[in-house]
Amino acid sequence: MSILKIVEYGNPILREKSKEVTKISKKVKTLVSNLLETMYHANGVGLAGVQVGELLRIFVIDVSDPEGPIDPIVFINPKIIKKSGAINSYEGCLSFPKAYTNVRRYKNVTVKALDINGRPFIKEARDGELLARAIQHEFDHLDGKLFIDHSRNYFETTNILQKCNLPPVEKERLIEEKELEEEIVEFEKAHPEVIEKQRQEMEETQKQQERQNEKQN
Ligand SMILES: [Zn+2]
Repeated sequence: MSILKIVEYGNPILREKSKEVTKISKKVKTLVSNLLETMYHANGVGLAGVQVGELLRIFVIDVSDPEGPIDPIVFINPKIIKKSGAINSYEGCLSFPKAYTNVRRYKNVTVKALDINGRPFIKEARDGELLARAIQHEFDHLDGKLFIDHSRNYFETTNILQKCNLPPVEKERLIEEKELEEEIVEFEKAHPEVIEKQRQEMEETQKQQERQNEKQN
């Protein structure tokens, strides 16, 4: 197993579409092991093939408690077969060092994929849990889409990218999600405590980031 170099935003490969896996070959198995090792090394919760320069429809996710035992899930040739509801998601990406922003996501998703042995499985993630958001984030990578394309606030995201010395948001790539946005706004109006929770989540993420920076320096 080896730790691979993660491709950063600005590299055009991140906008390319990944190809279906036709055979779970030795090469595919090695790639999956390396994706996992690279993801854990970078303290991430998900990583897609394209992020290490392999345009194959594969991603790995582990949303378990970082203090507890690992619980990796491997998704090969995934398809999102059901999605519903809307939620605000404060996200980052291993290809966007230190940049976090608010994006729109579905609340519930069901995905069908193959596991590392080529066996099909179905995974359901609900209520906007981290797994639900991570599946959508990683799935997007396979189609050359990025989390910033779902930004709720173009200016906010552009500012954040600038601060992180990353290229700006490509306006023409922004995905119009009027219905999702309306549902999120309505929900936030009815539940002000949710906004407070999001604010805390943002603060916590920023603190974690600062602690990591201190460790590195
Ligand atoms: Zn990502």
